[in-house]
Amino acid sequence: MAYIIVEPCIGTKDTACVDVCPVDCIHPTKEEAHFDDVEQLYIDPETCIDCAACEPACPVEAIFAEDDVPEQWQAFIAKNVDWYQLSAEEFQAKWGSLGKID
Ligand code: SF4
Repeated sequence: MAYIIVEPCIGTKDTACVDVCPVDCIHPTKEEAHFDDVEQLYIDPETCIDCAACEPACPVEAIFAEDDVPEQWQAFIAKNVDWYQLSAEEFQAKWGSLGKID
């Protein structure tokens, strides 16, 4: 399981979650290229240790444990995974927003 960032992050990108994550698995950070271009932040499920520190840090309640993601935001579970696993082009084609550019 992992934590998931959902719809309220779009256009918000507060990054308080980035500051509290002990394993740096929330991207992009403000220091990374394309931070201004992505519509939201994403959690890398391969690295997340389910510590829950990010959940209360988010000012717009955009972070949930995977099992607690509300019904209307279930697609974001795959979206977070895809941002790390798909190419930028594949992500753009599937989700209509900027993918991860290394
Ligand atoms: Fe990082 Fe912990 Fe949140 Fe996972 S649950 S993204 S490890 S702060």
